[in-house]
Amino acid sequence: MSLIVQKFGGSSVADAESIKRVAKRIVETRKAGNEVVVAVSAMGDTTDELLDLAHEVAPIPAPREMDMLLSAGERISMALLAMAIESLGHDARSFTGSQAGMITDARHGAARIVDVTPVRLREALDEGAIVIVAGFQGFNRDTKDITTLGRGGSDTTAVALAAALNADVCEIYTDVDGIFSADPRLVPKAQKIDRITSEEMLELAANGAKVLYIRAVEYARRHGVTLHVRSSFNNNEGTIVYNPTESETAVEEPLIAGVATDLSEAKITVVGVPDIPGKAAQIFTIVAKTGANIDMIVQNVSAASTGLTDISFTLPKSEGQLVLTALRAEQEDSGFKALQYDDQIGKLALVGAGMRTNAGVSAKLFTALYEAGINIEMISTSEIRISVVTRADTINDALRVVHTAFGLDAENEAVVHAGTGR
Ligand code: ASP
Ligand code: MG
Repeated sequence: MSLIVQKFGGSSVADAESIKRVAKRIVETRKAGNEVVVAVSAMGDTTDELLDLAHEVAPIPAPREMDMLLSAGERISMALLAMAIESLGHDARSFTGSQAGMITDARHGAARIVDVTPVRLREALDEGAIVIVAGFQGFNRDTKDITTLGRGGSDTTAVALAAALNADVCEIYTDVDGIFSADPRLVPKAQKIDRITSEEMLELAANGAKVLYIRAVEYARRHGVTLHVRSSFNNNEGTIVYNPTESETAVEEPLIAGVATDLSEAKITVVGVPDIPGKAAQIFTIVAKTGANIDMIVQNVSAASTGLTDISFTLPKSEGQLVLTALRAEQEDSGFKALQYDDQIGKLALVGAGMRTNAGVSAKLFTALYEAGINIEMISTSEIRISVVTRADTINDALRVVHTAFGLDAENEAVVHAGTGR
């Protein structure tokens, strides 16, 4: 008997009809002779609605209460789903995160899983029940409080359950047919990818691909969990995200797996930084103290006449003001001349394990952008990724021309079933 973990996102359980459809699907998996554990998200936009409500009653809601509130979203969907399965004549039992043994640290709103003790789940499975677990939530042993894992955390719940229960596969159900070479909402001729390494998937997720959350992919990579990302609207094979063995890595890999774009970042330029040892250290220590997540960093050659240089870096827009304020406070001490803030940037990342052994990928990328008249403002690379920053309003054109230039366009247009990609 196989043990299959299935995760259904908010758009797959948005209303009663959808819940019944998902229940049927779960029952089919059970009937095929598998043990089934389901991680479920809150219905539709419930989490956003609860967030809005919280901000209506309090300008800065208490983090502990926020987690109490948000975790309620998944309690609703888990109970409804269990009821729907029961009414199909199958034994189903729902569990909150804490009942399921999802032990986390104490950080409300962004808790990390530290241990999974699925004793009650194992018992329910042994009794022949289908197990439904509320995604996105856990429990801290010291504070004895409910925590949530951060937006999109149900993916991580599913992967953590798969690892702890030693599942054969973790199926992530979504509203598209799998992982695509680009977001099919932006590039209609994007192709479904059959197999992708977790390393490539991490790069795509870190660079704006929204189909899987980065923490879930990291967890799967660390714990050797194989993911199957597939549609809840049909029975098609989706995309397998796997951890290659050494012999598999040696096999010829496709050059490019996919292209991702991201409009959520801004660029800060620190102008007129004295070009002497210690200045970058000083500036980025100030930035680090804010806890901001820096992405690309570029330092220019200093002008010989002035001995001054400019340093630019990108970060999430949501952290922009915080970092600007911190830098301004230390301007005199650091000796830079001015700060510039630009939130009209877009980032495009081209990802592929085959890049490691192929020259000419950058030239082809830059040529495609040049031919479309798109200016590149920043460049950064890793072993399996090239990223560029352009103006925000050119990013969708950039995505399409790059997708075409690397031969990724499919014959037919991709089918997008519903929702927002979650
Ligand atoms: N309901 C939570 C959210 O919307 C968790 C999830 O959907 O994975 O972020
Ligand atoms: Mg959701």
